[in-house]
Amino acid sequence: MQSLWSDQEAVGFQGDLGLRVYSSRLLGRDPTLVLHGGGNTSVKLVELNLHGEPEDILYVKGSGWDLETIESAGFAPLRLAPVRRLAELVSLSDPAMVNALRTQMTRADAPAPSVESILHAVIPHRYVDHTHADAVLALTDTAQGAESARELYGDEVVVIPYVMPGFALARACAEAYAAQAGPRTIGMVLLQHGVFSFGDTARESYERMVALVSRAEDRLRARRAWDLPPEPLAPPVTPLRGPLAALRSRVSKAAGRPMILRTDQDPKSLGFAQRQDIAKLSQEGPMTPDHVIRTKCVPLLGDDVDAYVAAYQAYFVEHSARCAEPVTMLDPAPRVIVDPRLGICSAGVSARDADIVADIYSHTVDTILRATALGGYRALPEADLFDMEYWDLEQAKLRGAGAPPVFQGEVALVTGAASGIGRACVDTLLARGAAVVGLDRNPDIRGHHSRPDLLGLHCDVTEEAAVSAALESAVLRFGGLDMLVLNAGVFPPSTPVAALDMTTWRAVMRVNLDANLSLMREAYPLLKLAPRSGRVVIIGSKNVPAPGPGAAAYSASKAALNQLARVVALEWGGDGIRVNTLHPNAVFDTGIWTGDVLEARAAHYGISVEQYQRRNVLGRPVTSRDVAELVAELCGPRFACTTGAQVPVDGGNERVI
Ligand code: ZN
Repeated sequence: MQSLWSDQEAVGFQGDLGLRVYSSRLLGRDPTLVLHGGGNTSVKLVELNLHGEPEDILYVKGSGWDLETIESAGFAPLRLAPVRRLAELVSLSDPAMVNALRTQMTRADAPAPSVESILHAVIPHRYVDHTHADAVLALTDTAQGAESARELYGDEVVVIPYVMPGFALARACAEAYAAQAGPRTIGMVLLQHGVFSFGDTARESYERMVALVSRAEDRLRARRAWDLPPEPLAPPVTPLRGPLAALRSRVSKAAGRPMILRTDQDPKSLGFAQRQDIAKLSQEGPMTPDHVIRTKCVPLLGDDVDAYVAAYQAYFVEHSARCAEPVTMLDPAPRVIVDPRLGICSAGVSARDADIVADIYSHTVDTILRATALGGYRALPEADLFDMEYWDLEQAKLRGAGAPPVFQGEVALVTGAASGIGRACVDTLLARGAAVVGLDRNPDIRGHHSRPDLLGLHCDVTEEAAVSAALESAVLRFGGLDMLVLNAGVFPPSTPVAALDMTTWRAVMRVNLDANLSLMREAYPLLKLAPRSGRVVIIGSKNVPAPGPGAAAYSASKAALNQLARVVALEWGGDGIRVNTLHPNAVFDTGIWTGDVLEARAAHYGISVEQYQRRNVLGRPVTSRDVAELVAELCGPRFACTTGAQVPVDGGNERVI
């Protein structure tokens, strides 16, 4: 790997702490070094206290910050001398250590300092960098890891056997450093955990990290254990959405809440899942303790979730028996599923969470394959994994978690999502925690938002093949479908029946009616598997109860759709699927209300456009947002006992009331 240091970039960062920010970001930029909040860095500075006396201060990465985006405020300032002295204690519980660290902060509103702060304090160099570099882990997650590290680095690094992160690790490192470090020492290798480098400047410490990791990479290359092309593979089963949605349903049941399930079928993922030795490789543990919580200890091989849950319960009972304090079992659902037919599936409570699991496991696959090529991957023993998974600091974090958003872990699909009511529905559903698939015939939908919980798909809903492909993509991305919002529609120019041609009539029916039939039919098997039961919301129209002259095709199409929705509510009620219809009127911030249409309708009633917009009982305009909020509520728990309903959202219409 190459150093990314640039003097030109570095001048933009002020002082020693500024350069600490800069080189931390350089580490964070490289996912082969740190992933999603992993790794930590520090710098030791001298600052004046309130009495004007100089004090040594350790600035160490605070929890909740990611190295890639860290700022000065992301470092917790700690008084160095008392923190360093903590390492002299024979023992200290981790909660007591966390408390002791917080009491040494010189800024009360700083983030909680890293649990590896004491370790940073005992290293007598100004800058300290810590990563979980893939290359070093491939070398040390093996039976001969200690010998390999010693042979490769000689006296330039201190090698530390595996100790769980926290006070015990800080103490072990302090002792090993005091006993083994010499004038040539530039780093520390923590077996089955990661690597530290240190130096007197930000650049020196960072470039020593690059040098240590590069040497591990070179060693792997020399042993033909670095670039491992995927093996030949059989294509995945298709269509996938049935088996994947069924798998997500079982995972969600095991977790006790809806889960997002992302599936990767790239050659690397499928190649790994189809290896001859996958039964052994898939059952190995995580590459570094940092990953235990997010990926669970071992993946599920195949799709037998019940067997996985039973094994997890047995593992919990066996290991929790020796815990001094009572511990609560985490949800037993797998987070990674390796299946030769499907590829690699990653589960999380949100799309972002599932993406993090996928990222971590992708690096784990690389590390397992490289270590295997060196002679055999060796993760931590099960007991160590359990200690990490049920670390009292992690348990405390879980207790502190608030109530999740109402649709967290659920998936909604919205048609006509690029503008107007559809776009507003996308926003309200995202705001309530759902992952959203937005379909639109406008290709701009693909670039609307770039966030992990939104998938924009270019799709003409009148083409059945395109709808089927969109559902496949949706389920590959998020694992299933819980909510369907049928919004796409067209409003043709005002035409009296006497002049209405069949081409216009059929075009309107195709979009407003036929497309919704095929979408509901294709979505039904998925909605049936929704962990909290499926929901369908149909955007109808005021024209259903109160049609207008000149809008025959539109009114008839919406009336037919309304009747279709009522039949669907009857047919799917036994599956727990709720189907409700909204009848908006005069929502003028939508695509169908072009200036021409507005003027034509206003002229038809002989009033101004302004009067036309407020022409309802409440005298208030109705916005896309108003409709979208009601769509989300209809999908939510308040309407749990409602199906087959038609709710107006029109400001009150005399002809309807
Ligand atoms: Zn670490």
